[in-house]
Amino acid sequence: MRYAVLSDIHANLEALQAVLADAAPRTDALLCLGDLVGYGADPVACIETVAARAQTLVCGNHEHAVTGLIDMEWFNAYARAAAEWTRERLDEDHRAYLASLPLVAEVGDATLVHASPDRPDEWEYLLTAQDGFDAFSAFTTRLCFVGHSHLAGVWSLGSSGPEYRVGAVDVELERGRRYLVNVGSVGQPRDRDPRAAYAIWDAERGTVSIRRIVYDVAAAREKILRGGLPRFLADRLAWGS
Ligand code: ZN
Repeated sequence: MRYAVLSDIHANLEALQAVLADAAPRTDALLCLGDLVGYGADPVACIETVAARAQTLVCGNHEHAVTGLIDMEWFNAYARAAAEWTRERLDEDHRAYLASLPLVAEVGDATLVHASPDRPDEWEYLLTAQDGFDAFSAFTTRLCFVGHSHLAGVWSLGSSGPEYRVGAVDVELERGRRYLVNVGSVGQPRDRDPRAAYAIWDAERGTVSIRRIVYDVAAAREKILRGGLPRFLADRLAWGS
């Protein structure tokens, strides 16, 4: 089985469609790590597109924000404005669907979780090499896929020592090693590369590849501006930060 693993779509339909088009000939199934909504202008289309295709989904902190499961005091001003804007555009069915998503799921020998697998409802970011290595004790599967920081990277632990690689890496999974993979963000990359990020996990061959995909940033920015969302949320798509 070859899985496309997507995270942090953030209501960016242009980025989502470009990633799905790239993934279609290369993968058999779709897994999603949450944050379908928040920041971008197409929350409903992104929820419906992913819900129709994903084999397994877990929820992100933005799902919890728009469904009232966490207090938005916790969010910065832009995230809060986006969550309020998004909440007004979702109907009862969308909110119920988002509220029903689990925090953690397992597919084969992989754990799926939006933020750190250690206390996933506290939404801790894995930003440094050490953050990632510390999180290995919080999952029991061989692999763990995460998002949340919008920064792609792969941590691994095994007898030949710890390893951490950032960016669009290709990894051959080695026997006896375990892996923690941040798949990056489809809809709002933050590593100064505006291209959408996602991962392909080939469970038979034992490989994980992070891919970067060009999409129509101008169209996504224009919709954010026309929709009345904060201008910063449009501009950061072009900066990739
Ligand atoms: Zn996010």
